[in-house]
Amino acid sequence: MDRNQQLFEQAKTIIPGGVNSPVRAFGSVGGIPRFINKAQGAYVWDENRNRYIDYVGSWGPAIVGHAHPEVVEAVCQATENGLSFGAPTENEIRIAEEIRNIMPSMEQIRLVSSGTEATMSAIRLARGFTGRDNIIKFEGCYHGHSDSLLVKAGSGLLTFGQPSSAGVPDDFSRHTLVLPYNDVEALQQTFASKGDSIACVIVEPIAGNMNMIPATVEFVQALRTLTEKHGSVLIYDEVMTGFRVALGGAQSIHGIKPDLTTIGKIIGGGMPVAAFGGRADIMACISPLGAVYQAGTLSGNPVCVAAGIKTLEIIQRSDFYTNLNIHTQELSNGLTAIARQANIPFCSRSIGGMFGFYFTPDLPNCFTDMQNSNLILFKAFFHAMLSHGVALAPSAYEACFVSAAHSSDIIADTLGLATEAFTEIARTV
Ligand SMILES: *Cc1c(COP(=O)(O)O)cnc(C)c1O
Repeated sequence: MDRNQQLFEQAKTIIPGGVNSPVRAFGSVGGIPRFINKAQGAYVWDENRNRYIDYVGSWGPAIVGHAHPEVVEAVCQATENGLSFGAPTENEIRIAEEIRNIMPSMEQIRLVSSGTEATMSAIRLARGFTGRDNIIKFEGCYHGHSDSLLVKAGSGLLTFGQPSSAGVPDDFSRHTLVLPYNDVEALQQTFASKGDSIACVIVEPIAGNMNMIPATVEFVQALRTLTEKHGSVLIYDEVMTGFRVALGGAQSIHGIKPDLTTIGKIIGGGMPVAAFGGRADIMACISPLGAVYQAGTLSGNPVCVAAGIKTLEIIQRSDFYTNLNIHTQELSNGLTAIARQANIPFCSRSIGGMFGFYFTPDLPNCFTDMQNSNLILFKAFFHAMLSHGVALAPSAYEACFVSAAHSSDIIADTLGLATEAFTEIARTV
């Protein structure tokens, strides 16, 4: 047994499934998860001393590259003044101001420690603000693991959701309506029949949890118009897309001003920081100002906030997003060209530093489209790339990420390895 294998066996004796978050267990691709002991720039190293070009990027936060020296220094400096105070600090104001400069729709901001907390709190806030119980989410969108949001579609349109996890009472999930993504008509019908009972609509404006699927212009416009018309709160869940698809997130690309926004991942630069925020009149309902309770012992943690402030500084340097875009496009276009040459049904697209690739003949636009992707080819490609030293997300339903440390040379290396991987899998089909 190699060391990854040994550690996985050991881990399973004490940690359920051997992991602290399910996708890490390689359940949908099979095989042994790599235990990582070091990350630097565009690379990660496993316990067998293998190096991988990393496109997981800690699932999004690592946009400036792993262990960026300036971020590490900011963290080290912050630790010298203490690890946590449970009291307000000046840097919490600085990071909130920085976020608002970048995303002006976030007029007031509250820091939390995970994306799950951010979306859970935003939903509670929307319910408290409107005095309504029902919420709308979309099939294939992931918003963390709070009860209201772990709901999958019912049997047809306009049915109330079913829990997608044991332990979520039906009584909770019946307040969550699940609609197909990018389906304007389903949205219009639901608002026509239930509009005045809907507290909020929560959406991944560029979905990254059913692989990468962008919302259409018509869809986001309908979201904004219908929520406004019916007094429902529009929540853009930009935990993944914020500072990732563009500096100002998907809302800057769409030209849409959501009522509330949730962010996370990148704003902690690898440390646990997330936030929700938006319209000042809505945010005024949060305790201690208002009646909607929300709190956190480690919220606004000084060490984490230091990492966040430095990361936000680095991403605002000149040409950061221009280069990120170019490199991500090089990869996405390159993979498509190579796959086509190998006669493999494959598509890819990218926005900013985020890309999706799909073993489908055409680009998918909703969860149902994604369900038709060829999972056997995905698994074969994933493992071929891994054995050549390229780490992709271990699931066909995840987006991948490029960082500022992924130079053109590293992208070219990746494409060279992908040529071998595609040739290998073409032989097996
Ligand atoms: C990752 C993610 C979350 C959950 O964030 P955690 O920090 O994992 O709790 C919520 N929404 C979206 C869109 C995400 O990508």
